[in-house]
Amino acid sequence: MARLSKKLKNDDQRYFETVTGSPESSRDTAFDSELEIAKSAIRNCKLRITLSIYYNQLNPEQLPDEILRPINTALGRPPGTPLGAHPDADGDRMLIREWKGGEWTNFLQEARRQAGMWDGKFWLIPPPEFWYLDFDYYWIGHGEYKYRPNIQCQFEFNTRPFAAGAHGQVDVVNLAKNEAFRSHSYLLSSKAMNQRPISGTDMSGATNNYMQWTIAHEIGHLLGLPHVGISGRLPNCLAAIAMKHFPHQDSVPALFKEGRNADVCYGGLSRPGDLDDIMGKGSKFGTQNAQPWLDRLFEHLNFDGLTMAQARHSKSRWTVSTYDQPPRRL
Ligand SMILES: [Zn+2]
Repeated sequence: MARLSKKLKNDDQRYFETVTGSPESSRDTAFDSELEIAKSAIRNCKLRITLSIYYNQLNPEQLPDEILRPINTALGRPPGTPLGAHPDADGDRMLIREWKGGEWTNFLQEARRQAGMWDGKFWLIPPPEFWYLDFDYYWIGHGEYKYRPNIQCQFEFNTRPFAAGAHGQVDVVNLAKNEAFRSHSYLLSSKAMNQRPISGTDMSGATNNYMQWTIAHEIGHLLGLPHVGISGRLPNCLAAIAMKHFPHQDSVPALFKEGRNADVCYGGLSRPGDLDDIMGKGSKFGTQNAQPWLDRLFEHLNFDGLTMAQARHSKSRWTVSTYDQPPRRL
């Protein structure tokens, strides 16, 4: 768990204006956030999560010329092109080459573009018993009304030039060949810049093809989101996690292999709404992906003991909208 440091709002000590997350280990989920309280009948509150990532360019070490030359010849590259190998998430060693300045600039730009897909996707809707954000608003000539705002989930993403000050470090290799490279949250390849076709079997047994933005998916993990089968507690995924420890892995069906990374945890054998999610095999932003904002919202509250307990009690009753809903007149 990241260490959080909080700064109170100047004009309203019931809220922390900013919450800063510092990772305590190299694979810790950490990010900063800022809460903006609105008191307008047409404006919602805003909760902005900011994630800063250091993308670490991995370049191959220079191999001896007598080894490099035949490889480059076989690949049709100039004889001196530095090449190396790096294992992907499955441990398969893939041929990598050096990043060129322009390619790296393009990668960073594309990473920021895909990360930007998380911005403005969700609105948190408080349940009836969460009245703490309610406010009175005076309409000239009409009188005073009570309003309950929702919370718009914003996302800001920065790439950092150094590991210091970043919330996390992600290694990135430049593939020398167009091969299938399996990424994970802390390891990407140049291929992550493109949309990736993935096939998935739905609950009817039909195979469909989905397209996924890999960097956007991995950003979801960096925000602490698991695969859709875990967040949605899909029975097939829970079965796969249980089967990971079976002594006879040969008897485990292919779609159930690999526990939390099993096909069924990406939404395989489930409804289309799970399979085509960004934390499944597609690129849709389902409401369960608002969890990092909902969790973080409660870190911004500075209520006294009993009020805080009551507020926390309401957490499971919050809903999420994927379109803007203005504050509700009560
Ligand atoms: Zn994943």
